[in-house]
Amino acid sequence: SGKWAQAISILKEFEEKCGTNISKLKQVADAMTVEMHAGLASEGGSKLKMIISYVDNLPTGDEKGLFYALDLGGTNFRVLRVQLGGKEHRVVKQEFEEVSIPPHLMTGSSDALFDYIASALAKFVATESEGLHFSPDRQRELGFTFSFPVRQTSISSGTLIKWTKGFSIDDTVGQDVVGELTKAMERIGLDMRVTALVNDTIGTLAGGRYNNPDVVAAVILGTGTNAAYVERAHAIPKWHGLLPKSGDMVINMEWGNFRSSHLPITEYDQALDAESLNPGEQIFEKIISGMYLGEIVRRVLCKMAEEAAFFGDTVPAKLKIPFILRTPHMSAMHHDTSPDLKIVAAKLKDILEISNTSLKMRKVIVELCDIVASRGARLSAAGIVGILKKIGRDTVKDGEKQKSVVSLDGGLYEHYTKFRTCMEDTLVELLGEEVSNNIVIEHSNDGSGIGAALLAASHSQYT
Ligand code: ADP
Ligand code: MG
Repeated sequence: SGKWAQAISILKEFEEKCGTNISKLKQVADAMTVEMHAGLASEGGSKLKMIISYVDNLPTGDEKGLFYALDLGGTNFRVLRVQLGGKEHRVVKQEFEEVSIPPHLMTGSSDALFDYIASALAKFVATESEGLHFSPDRQRELGFTFSFPVRQTSISSGTLIKWTKGFSIDDTVGQDVVGELTKAMERIGLDMRVTALVNDTIGTLAGGRYNNPDVVAAVILGTGTNAAYVERAHAIPKWHGLLPKSGDMVINMEWGNFRSSHLPITEYDQALDAESLNPGEQIFEKIISGMYLGEIVRRVLCKMAEEAAFFGDTVPAKLKIPFILRTPHMSAMHHDTSPDLKIVAAKLKDILEISNTSLKMRKVIVELCDIVASRGARLSAAGIVGILKKIGRDTVKDGEKQKSVVSLDGGLYEHYTKFRTCMEDTLVELLGEEVSNNIVIEHSNDGSGIGAALLAASHSQYT
């Protein structure tokens, strides 16, 4: 019928606007490289903040002792305890616990959030087995992975620039987040010192490097997205401090805030952005990351329902609720291999209360998921190529066999198989076979937590 054709034309128009052919991706990669240069040249020189992390040494394997880490990145946070045994024994023991953040704390007061975090940490410390903390006169030390944009002022302090990923707590902005955590720990009588403040990308880079000396960059694809890499300190014009002995400086790109006229942005993305907590910001993140992919799918479906009666004469009420369709639901539908797409049917019924869908309709929904996921995955690959270009690892010099390893982590990368595969295939497509042989994408499982503990160790007050 005419309505069906109309729905399909909405889908096709969306697909066209999401287009990421190779020449477009190369433009995106080039734009990323250009913005990296601009962000390193001067403060505020680019949408890419290119934050100097003060990490000028990555773990070597010599780290020893018991260290804690706290990883606050999205809706969950993790507390970890790692027993490091030096070169020979490596990670002797690691334990962690995952705690979810009640939604009201994400938009409440700073004290309430940090009190909650500190008390969860205290509970975890209380489960420390006897003998593990071998020197009772030593203060426990913590690496704090805080995955929001921070203006770093030293390895163990930094002020929050802004919240992202659904957090919005005005009184934290402009504050030293280590100070906020330390005050909360003092309020509940937990004696622990934060010796390293990093974000998940730097933690992942550190954790990755601990396991593989060829790691040069780390990318997070989770609720949000970001990247960090090792830069040569003399290639950072805005750095006026002493050149570190290593000659290196880890840069936290905050690439979620990347934007470029080459990015394929649709009307749905524009509306999502306009109605978000941070309009005009984190544009790259809003078309790539786990917080948003499902929501983009919902918005397109909503338009198909409203303008082409895709689900019948009335628009299903649940479909109008922002963020009701989460990326894991989308992923489950996208991966449905049953001949009658029964997982798609079940998700539509359970989440959106839409029943009686035809197989034809379900196929359209899978196609929609594919369009949204592929765009995000291909743009992520373009971003990685931008980094490799910046550090000169996008070519093979005289048949050189130098490997470049990129550590990847985050729930989206880990669990959304089609996203991951598409991203990895696109990298090969962009770099060509020969170069790709030297580029390794490595899943750094929970590297960010371990990495923070490793950095806490290398920046210990006792060494
Ligand atoms: P965070 O980024 O909040 O630190 P994670 O790295 O664990 O946490 O990523 C969580 C995100 O990963 C979720 O918000 C979701 O978007 C995405 N995700 C989790 N599971 C899946 C899944 N099965 N399929 C697709 N995306 C998923
Ligand atoms: Mg995380």
